[in-house]
Parts: sequence; C-alpha cells; structure tokens
Amino acid sequence: MKLSLSVISIFLSYFFCFSYPTELSASSKGRMEFEKTGKVFWDVHTKEKMVALTFDDGPSSVFTPQILDLLAKYHAKATFFVIGEHAEKFPQIIKRQVDEGHEIANHTYHHYYSVRKNIKNLNAELKQTSNIIQSIAGYRPSLFRPVGGYYNENIIHTAIKKDFKIIMWSWHQDTEDWKRPGVNKIVNNVISDTRPGDIILMHDAGGNRSQTVKALDEILAALQKEGYECVTVSEMLYRAKGILPNPSQLFPFFNP
Ligand SMILES: [Zn+2]
Repeated sequence: MKLSLSVISIFLSYFFCFSYPTELSASSKGRMEFEKTGKVFWDVHTKEKMVALTFDDGPSSVFTPQILDLLAKYHAKATFFVIGEHAEKFPQIIKRQVDEGHEIANHTYHHYYSVRKNIKNLNAELKQTSNIIQSIAGYRPSLFRPVGGYYNENIIHTAIKKDFKIIMWSWHQDTEDWKRPGVNKIVNNVISDTRPGDIILMHDAGGNRSQTVKALDEILAALQKEGYECVTVSEMLYRAKGILPNPSQLFPFFNP
C-alpha cells in the first residue's frame, strides 16, 4: 500500500510539473523548463496588485477603437499582439495605441499555423512584423506571442535569438472570448480568480468581438473596484522582475 501510494505521488508530481494543455504544445520540454530561461512567461510573480490585459490578432477597424475607448475610460493600459498584415492595413490604429500608452507586440505577419513547422518562415514573419511596427510605432517590439499559443523548442529558441521575450498567458485567464461564450462567462473568467501578475488573454480581431467589448467594460470596472492596476506586459516585467526591454525596443511611454 505504502509503495503504491508513493508510486502514485511520483506520478502525480510528474504530471503536475510537466503537463500542459495538449493543444498548446507538442514540445518535449514543459513549461517549467522554458520558464527557467527567464525569457518565457505565463504569469509574472509579484505581490503588487497589477495585471496585464492582452489582445491578440488585431488591429480591427471596428473593435479595436471601441476597446481603446474603454481602456481610456478606466485609465488602463494593455498590450496588443498584432498581426503584421493588419498593422499595415490600419497604421492609424497602431499610432493611436502608442499615443495612448499601450504596448505593441509581435504576433507574426500572416498568423499562419504552419510556422510551427517552418522556422525559416517564422524568422521572416517576425522580422517583417517588427519592421512594420517600428515604421509606425517608432520602436521594435520586445514581446512575441506564438500563433495559437503553440510553442516548441524551435519556436522558443528562434524568438529568443531575435531578442524577444515569449509571452503566453495565465492558464486560469484564457477567456476563450473567440468562441463567443457570452459576456458573463468572459467577465467571470477574469474576475472570479484574479491574481497579481496575471496575464489575461482576449482578442480584438478575427471575428465579431462585440462580446469582448461588452465584457471588457465590466472587467475594467471590477478590477478598478478591487484595486488592480492594468499595466502593459513590459511594465509588469520591469516592476516585478527589473527586466528592461533592449534599448532599440524602448518605447516612448516606458519610463522606469
Ligand atoms: Zn492569434
């Protein structure tokens, strides 16, 4: 009995340490090993009451401006993981995001799921998107989020070599807003279990995001009431860990 219990506990601790959502990775390495590099983040350890709202796949000419209006209303800052070809289409939205103190980050040029198998393409996609962001925003992005959150050793090392930090999201803060689960579900996902250092995943483009917009209004009100500050990912990394973006990636609003 004693033996079987210890076997079970070894199995459980192994499972706990090395398991991750299967749709997120086919990597032989687990989250903890990548976290050890100091370049890959799911959450940020901090006691300060701050969280990072992140929006993927934009900009959208319809929904991103509505999201920016709400962020302004609550004096909240966010990080936008933009798709290069969308940024190219809507440079005025990127400019507005920068002017209003938000952070622009790299989410590849085409959002092809196939880049996971083709590192040469990933390199080109990262470079093209960073060039576009630099030409509009005036700085090179320091953060990268892989398409679909899918990572493996090749993807991580390619991004690290290019001086990116890889930003995933807190496992308890995946709103799944792209599935349009209803405003309440999106709101509750975030506010029922908010913890300092959370990285919250939402989407400002890629379909009808009216639920996301409505939910964001309630989320921002609730976070404000709870005393949480919404900051960019880079600000959170700096305040919690003293990590600074590289000089070429320093954005005008970043005043450590
Ligand atoms: Zn995406």
